[in-house]
Amino acid sequence: SDRFQRFCLALRGLPIGPINGPKNTLGHFKSQMLAPQRKALPIASVASRIVEEVKNNDTLIIVGETGSGKTTQLPQFLFDAGLCSDGKVIGITQPRRVAAVSVAKRVAEECGVELGQRVGYSIRFDDVTSNSTRIKYMTDGLLLREALLDPFLSRYCVIIIDEAHERTVHTDVLLGLLKNVQNARSKYATTEYDHSKKDSLSEKGCNGLRQTKLLTCQDTKLAPLKLVIMSASLDARVFSRYFGGAKAVHVQGRLYPVEILYTYHPEPDYVDAALITIFQIHLNECSGDVLVFLTGQEEIEFVERRIKEGTDQLPDEKKNVVVVPIYSSLPSEQQMKVFKPAPSGFRKVILATNVAETSVTIPGIKYVVDPGLVKVRCYNPVTGVESLIVIPTSKAQALQRSGRAGREGPGKCFRLYPESEFAKLRDSIIPEIKRCNISNVVLQLRALGIKDILGFDFIDKPPRMAVVKSLEQLLLLGALTKDYELSDPVGYQMAQIPLDPLYSKALILAREFNCLEEMLIVVAMLSVESIFYIPHEKLEKAKVAMRCFSSPEGDHTTLINVYRASKEVLDKSRAAGGDEKMAERGLSKWCKENFINKRSLKHARDVHSQVHGYVKQMGFAVTSCGDDMLQFRRCLAASFFLNVALRQPDGTFRALGSNQTVRIHPSSVLFRSKAECVIFNELVRTNQNYLRNVTSVDPLWLPELAPHYFSLREP
Ligand code: ADP
Ligand code: MG
Repeated sequence: SDRFQRFCLALRGLPIGPINGPKNTLGHFKSQMLAPQRKALPIASVASRIVEEVKNNDTLIIVGETGSGKTTQLPQFLFDAGLCSDGKVIGITQPRRVAAVSVAKRVAEECGVELGQRVGYSIRFDDVTSNSTRIKYMTDGLLLREALLDPFLSRYCVIIIDEAHERTVHTDVLLGLLKNVQNARSKYATTEYDHSKKDSLSEKGCNGLRQTKLLTCQDTKLAPLKLVIMSASLDARVFSRYFGGAKAVHVQGRLYPVEILYTYHPEPDYVDAALITIFQIHLNECSGDVLVFLTGQEEIEFVERRIKEGTDQLPDEKKNVVVVPIYSSLPSEQQMKVFKPAPSGFRKVILATNVAETSVTIPGIKYVVDPGLVKVRCYNPVTGVESLIVIPTSKAQALQRSGRAGREGPGKCFRLYPESEFAKLRDSIIPEIKRCNISNVVLQLRALGIKDILGFDFIDKPPRMAVVKSLEQLLLLGALTKDYELSDPVGYQMAQIPLDPLYSKALILAREFNCLEEMLIVVAMLSVESIFYIPHEKLEKAKVAMRCFSSPEGDHTTLINVYRASKEVLDKSRAAGGDEKMAERGLSKWCKENFINKRSLKHARDVHSQVHGYVKQMGFAVTSCGDDMLQFRRCLAASFFLNVALRQPDGTFRALGSNQTVRIHPSSVLFRSKAECVIFNELVRTNQNYLRNVTSVDPLWLPELAPHYFSLREP
């Protein structure tokens, strides 16, 4: 029949004529094509058992090998079993944005529905859901925010905490919060609800805590909340113990043998070693895709360029390599490229951060290159300095990584360190809550009415010192009153803006200083990795290009210049009647000529439009200070007074808060300047302490703009 023919054409990827009938006919084809794949997943054979367990247990722990189908299948099983028949939603949290987006897209395809309808996702700065969404993928941080507005999480019937083994701060806080919500909801479900008591319900909140202003409880018929904790680590005991002996189900995975190869000696330059290994695999091993674990966007982009250059040197028949990056801040339309099979005869090389360890499963991988490193946040509560550092992975991570090579057949994993090093690795990672700045979390818990932070039922408690430090910081920023209550309005406003408290405060101040337009750009540009792309071999050219934007005041105004120039390029091409595609192409060209990282700029534009939306919603007028850069710098000083550094006689700087010796990073426009006093937004720790994103300020402003902090000190 005609339908069947179309189906065959679609299968072969050929263009098909216009289709009559419902718009998503193609979606149905696709979902039919995916059905056999779904049936073959290990979790499919235990689907009915798992559904029963979820029905019978308030909290269930599911442990299963990565790729067994937990993330994509379980929500569909629960939906099909009628768990959201009352219009409620199944929420699934992910530690990373990229996982939430890619999985939601996949599941929408499997269900044959349009993304944003029955299946959707919601991440900070990007919400693709609707009233009809029943399966909602989101980041753990986003669900935490939703709890501020809806403390009983009343729209959810089931919440699935995925990738719990990653133990991000947000996951850990959610676990504690959800435990309370679950208790509260089962209490209300068993007692007949009396409308006259509406106030007492919302006043009590879910933790027996008083509700704060932000909280409203619209829904009064609350069914008990089901919790599912999913983890790829084999040790379910911590979670089971935390949830009062909750039942754990194990899903058997399928894994082919993976040959592990080590280097003879430690590698002095792991990026170089990774490049050599990639080419060795390409030239000497039989077909199969390669997955390389790197530590971040900058490194991935560097390796991406080097592979492309290297491939150009190869004979024509060996040029069959495609490189695809994947990391969390990659714009979402680019993320899906990683799942597309390479053209026939080509080898796909995937450059990934640890997002590919367990969060996303990429088909077709036969070779894994693992330098054995991971970038983590690390916080020193004594100095109050948070930095990103690269550390060795844990044994569990190394095993997960090598496992990626054996999903579809026997594979090989190249660990770029000697075998003796493996034994020295720690068994599993330290939960993030024990090693990061928790100011943001403390602010959110306070907004939820939780006053005794140290008494909160954490699965692992943050260090006392970190809690004390963050309370102190929030007090200095004016988010808390002297009695550690959320301040009105600043504290409430700060809790509503999904940014680091320093940035939220900067936006609030910028309104007073009449430079919100400028500060919005700065906050967006600071929220992304490396706007400038400075290749070593074109260093001089890049520096010349950079000079067109650089501002003598510092990096913040420089970033504003870049943002505005890029916007002008877009506006011009739109004004000339070009369509969006042409505008984007023009921007790409402009980025290339000016050594700007287009991916980062795109991300910054997304962040900007979202944060712009938030502040407008809060009733802030977005005005500009025009050419009055003095005003803007004063606003920066008022916002970032916690990050001030003063020049020392020897030319280095001293960071006032932490009393550390620091230098201005060579990438800063103030690197060679004579600035006496600067504010900064980032302290990078390599072999030295470097300040990035620096602007010079007048030290005399500080006691005036932050008297509570500087009156007792000498600036
Ligand atoms: P788990 O959560 O247990 O690690 P997933 O549910 O994420 O497993 O993945 C199940 C299967 O779905 C995997 O075999 C994976 O290859 C496939 N898959 C997931 N997302 C995509 C995608 N976007 N494109 C193609 N295949 C995918
Ligand atoms: Mg998963």
